[in-house]
Amino acid sequence: MGTNRHTSADSRGRYTPEAAGEIMPGSEGPPGSRTHNLLSPRRGSLMQEPVLVLNATYEPINVTAVRRAMVLMLKGVAQAEELHHTEVHSAAQAHRVPSVIRLLAYRHIPQQSRALSRKNILLRDRNTCQFCVRVFPSSELTLDHVVPRSRGGRSTWENLVACCYRCNNNKGDRTPEEAGLKLARRPRPFTLHTSRQLMRLIGHRDERWRKYLFY
Ligand SMILES: [Zn+2]
Repeated sequence: MGTNRHTSADSRGRYTPEAAGEIMPGSEGPPGSRTHNLLSPRRGSLMQEPVLVLNATYEPINVTAVRRAMVLMLKGVAQAEELHHTEVHSAAQAHRVPSVIRLLAYRHIPQQSRALSRKNILLRDRNTCQFCVRVFPSSELTLDHVVPRSRGGRSTWENLVACCYRCNNNKGDRTPEEAGLKLARRPRPFTLHTSRQLMRLIGHRDERWRKYLFY
């Protein structure tokens, strides 16, 4: 079992806002590997498999990793709603691996709680370069200011997009129009709608998630 560092709950076992505002499995592995694992069919280790997190009201609010989910269950913060057939063995006993967990206490999720971060922008753009529309591992993507900073472009959800290094070099200090590039889609803030879409994308391999995500 992981140490406290890997849990979504604080020392008193509460579910923290930071954890609730993130969609990502696990916290281990080389930097930048998480989003890639998450969006590609390649299987990571069992403890890194994604687990859907429901609020006490059964509303889907997050995706976490098996490891974190099991810590939340052991702390009595959450309970399993759906289980995999797989088991993990601790010293004393075997535990079925959760696929969906539900928080036992209701947590208020603010509408616009998602932090503007590299990780969240790559998630929003699904690791797809917004100019050449190819999918890359996180380590091969950078953030591009659509309107360059040198031209007054700001660091906002609407002005930052995932971009491969090649397109980024090609674009340089120009606007997309000047560089003859076209954005795959207009960048928008990360909304609840985006979160749901991502949850469906992450959960498409696990039909146990379906009834909670309505697809
Ligand atoms: Zn590109």
